Amino acid sequence: MIRIDNIKLPAGHAEADLKKKIDKLLDMGKSKRGKDSIRYSFRILRQSIDARRKPEIFYVYSVAIDTDSRIEDKLLSNKGKLNVSKYIHKQYELPLGYGDTEIIGRPVIVGSGPAGLFCAYILCQCGYKPIILERGECVDERIKSVDEFWKSGMLKPGSNVQFGEGGAGTFSDGKLNTGVNDKNGRNQYVLDTFVKFGAGREIAYTAKPHIGTDVLVNVVKSMREYIKENGGTFMFDTRFTGFASDTGELKEVYAVYTGNGYYKSDLISEGCIDTDISYTISDNKGEAGYDIRIRTNCLVLAIGHSARDTFKMLKDKGIEMKQKEFAVGLRIQHPQSVINRSQYGREHCDDLPAADYKLTDHTSNGRSVYSFCMCPGGYVVNASSEEGRLAVNGMSYSGRNSTNANSALIVGVDSKDFGSEDVLAGMEFQRRLEERAYRLGNGKVPIQRFGDFRDGVASNKPGKVIPQIKGAYDYADLRELLPDDLNEAIIESIEHFGGIIKDYDMEDALLAGVESRTSSPVRIVRNDELMSSITGIYPCGEGAGYAGGITSAAMDGIKVAEKIIGKYRLPDSNAE
Ligand SMILES: Cc1cc2nc3c(=O)[nH]c(=O)nc-3n(C[C@H](O)[C@H](O)[C@H](O)COP(=O)(O)OP(=O)(O)OC[C@H]3O[C@@H](n4cnc5c(N)ncnc54)[C@H](O)[C@@H]3O)c2cc1C
Repeated sequence: MIRIDNIKLPAGHAEADLKKKIDKLLDMGKSKRGKDSIRYSFRILRQSIDARRKPEIFYVYSVAIDTDSRIEDKLLSNKGKLNVSKYIHKQYELPLGYGDTEIIGRPVIVGSGPAGLFCAYILCQCGYKPIILERGECVDERIKSVDEFWKSGMLKPGSNVQFGEGGAGTFSDGKLNTGVNDKNGRNQYVLDTFVKFGAGREIAYTAKPHIGTDVLVNVVKSMREYIKENGGTFMFDTRFTGFASDTGELKEVYAVYTGNGYYKSDLISEGCIDTDISYTISDNKGEAGYDIRIRTNCLVLAIGHSARDTFKMLKDKGIEMKQKEFAVGLRIQHPQSVINRSQYGREHCDDLPAADYKLTDHTSNGRSVYSFCMCPGGYVVNASSEEGRLAVNGMSYSGRNSTNANSALIVGVDSKDFGSEDVLAGMEFQRRLEERAYRLGNGKVPIQRFGDFRDGVASNKPGKVIPQIKGAYDYADLRELLPDDLNEAIIESIEHFGGIIKDYDMEDALLAGVESRTSSPVRIVRNDELMSSITGIYPCGEGAGYAGGITSAAMDGIKVAEKIIGKYRLPDSNAE
C-alpha cells in the first residue's frame, strides 16, 4: 500500500471530488500504454482544515491506497510533486498471553467512564467477566436526572453531570483529541471502537474528532450491551465504599446499592445483579441502601476527578496518594460568528465545522492563562455534583450549532494556592471556590459581562451575547470568586487575546464560574505494573491522575486491562 499526503480540496467539496482527485493522481503512475482506469481502493487516514489563506479554506487529506504494485512502484520511484510514501497499516493488537496468578472471583471495575468502560471492553474480549460498579444511574435515567437538575436546580449527588453511566464525558462536547502519543495504536483503537459502536466514521480520521453528547449517549449504551453480552455485569446506583486487604493484598470489595429496588429479588429481576456467587448482598436495606460484599483480588479504580468521598476513603484506608496540581478559572462565551470570522475570515460557514481556538498567555504577574475544553457552537453547563457547591463546564451536541462559542480560561494552581501540603488540600480548595460560586449565583450559575468584570461592577443584564447555559443563571460580581491575582491574569489575557481574535475582549463577552474540575486534585500512586500500594488495586484514568480527557482516559483503561490480563490467569469458569 501507499500513502499520499497533502491532497487539497476546497471547503464545501463533494465527497466524490476526493476520488476524482485520487484518480488524477494515480493516472500519473499509469504507463503511456495504459488506457483502462486503474483499480484501487482507498481509505482516508487524516483530514484537516487549512485556513492559512482565509477566506479561501481547504480540506487537506492523507489517504492510504491499495492498488497494483507496479503503479505503486512507479509513483514511489518518481515522486515529483506528489507526497507519496510506502504505507504499513498498524492495528492495535489485543493482549495475547494470560498471567499465572489465580484471580479470586471476578475483576471489579469502579466507574463506567471512558477508563472503566474501555478496561471492561478489553477484559471482556479476553474472557474475563468484569463487574462494573457505577454509583450513578444508567444513562437513560441519568439524562432525566440531569435535565431535571438543569430545569429545577434539584441535584442528585449520586447521578449528575459528573456521575453516572458513561462518566463525566457523557454530557460533553465529546472532543476526542489527545496529546498522548501511543506507539501501540491505542489512540486509533479508541476512535475505531467509538465508530464500531455508533459514532460517525469521520472521527477515525479527522484532525479534531468530536462526538457530541447526543451521539455519545448511544455509543455508551451500545458498548454496555456488548460488554454484558460478553459476560460483564453492570451494577448501576452502586457506590464503591471500601475494601479489605490482608498483608497488603486485596481480599474483598464493599459497595452499597442506592437504587430504589426494595428487595434483593427486585435487584435480581431488574438485572442489577445476577445470581453469581462472587458477591453477597444484605437482605435488608440499610440507611444508605443494600450492602454488597464482593470477594476478589483484582480491583480497578476508574473513579474520575470528582469522586471526593472516595478519595477521602482511600486516603483513610492508607492507599498511597499525592496532591496534584490542576487549574481553575472561568468560562467565557462569544458569538460563534466572532470566532468563525477570525479563524475562517467569514462569519457564516455551512461548509465548515464551527471554528475553534487554542490560546495561551503568560501574564505580567507570572501567572499563565490558557483556554481549555473549548466548545464551538456549545453551551456552558452547570456541572455540579455536591449540594451547596457550583462548578461549570462546557458541552455541545454533534451539530455544534448553538449561537455561542465557549471555553474555559484557566490558571494553574498548586499547594501554594491550597495553603497546605495535605493530600486532599487541592480538593478542599476546589470546594471552597464552588461554595463561593454557589453563594454568588444564589444557587444558580453566576455570570458577568467581561466589561463589568474588568471594572469590578456587577452585571444585571446581558449585552450582545445571549447566554447559552444549561441550568439557571444569575448575575454576580465574579471578582469575588477567584483569588485577585487570578482575576488580574484572566483580565490581562482576555485583552491580549483580543489582539489575536478580533473582539475576543468585547465588553459583552460573557463570563461564568467556577471552572474547577479541570483534572484530578490527587494522584493515586501506582508502580510499573500499574498497581497501587495495595496489591490487586489498579488506579486508572483521570481520577487517579493518569489521564486528562475522554480518549486518554480510555487509553489508560486499556493499559490497565493489559496489565491485569498479563498478571491473572483466566477465571476457571472461563478457561475452557
Ligand atoms: C461537562 C464536561 C465536559 C467535558 N468535555 C470533554 C471533552 O469534550 N473532551 C474530553 O476529552 N474530555 C472532556 N471532559 C473530561 C472527560 O469527561 C474526562 O476526562 C473523562 O470522562 C475521564 O474519564 P474517567 O473514566 O477517568 O472518569 P469519569 O468519566 O469521571 O468516570 C468516573 C466514573 O466513576 C464513577 N464513580 C466515582 N466514584 C465512584 C464510587 N465510589 N463508586 C462507583 N462509581 C464511582 C462516577 O460516577 C463516574 O461515572 C469533560 C468533562 C465534563 C464534566
